[in-house]
Amino acid sequence: MEENDKKLVVVTGGSRGIGKETVLSLVDEGYRVAFLYSGSEESAGKTLSMAREKSPSSKCYKCDVSDSANVKATVEEIYKEYSTSVYALVNNAGITRDGLLMRMSDEDWRRVIDVNLTGTFNMTREISRILLRNKGGRIINISSVSGIIGNAGQANYASSKAGIIGLTKTAAREFATKGITVNAIAPGFIETEMTENLDKGEVEKLIPLKRMGKASDIAKAVLFLLSADYITGSVLKVDGGIAL
Ligand code: NAD
Repeated sequence: MEENDKKLVVVTGGSRGIGKETVLSLVDEGYRVAFLYSGSEESAGKTLSMAREKSPSSKCYKCDVSDSANVKATVEEIYKEYSTSVYALVNNAGITRDGLLMRMSDEDWRRVIDVNLTGTFNMTREISRILLRNKGGRIINISSVSGIIGNAGQANYASSKAGIIGLTKTAAREFATKGITVNAIAPGFIETEMTENLDKGEVEKLIPLKRMGKASDIAKAVLFLLSADYITGSVLKVDGGIAL
């Protein structure tokens, strides 16, 4: 397919982990990608050069999704660059700041809600305007099983991820007649830098399928939801059965 005819997927937090794997799977499948990141320029640069091997027009943008002005300006740039090609948004950017509820600081509570939940809202609001103009598209939000079953030590994170599920269902209802589907994925324990300090052996004992997930397990779910015409407002658990 000609590069300019490819559909564009915007991925937040695309520089590493699940976001990086998603970016690379998307370009393999014939999409082009604009990804956002907030961390190291070096890892973003590496991911971008890998993506450009398959899709030379892919780009990355440094943008803090919790900052609505930064999101608005970045999405304007993306629209100028790709206009009618913009087809989907994957809200993947997320952070943890774990600690027991009784000892959790205001700052740790707020930052996790701001990045995970408000960031998803900021991106959805700006990109949905483009999808409406383009007469359809997909929004996929990365939640977590913590948002479904809770997790001791993650009051901030679990609340943000449960909030994403409420946001997903509301957006699905608001956009249902506009050709835009909105779904969430709830990963279990996935091997990335976010989970590198966990005791893998202990975690795997809790998982019915007896292994931690790979970033590619989530990327496959993203590709599936991109291809699904008749699914909206759903929460797809990709968790080896941990939240059965
Ligand atoms: P990661 O820490 O490896 O990557 C997070 C990405 O988000 C990075 O690219 C980072 O630059 C970006 N990011 C962080 N703050 C940002 C901000 N303010 N603005 C823009 N980008 C920002 O994490 P991961 O394990 O790949 O997780 C990706 C998503 O999957 C997160 O939403 C996470 O909550 C969710 N998730 C992960 C797991 C897991 O076990 N790894 C489980 C459930 C859900």
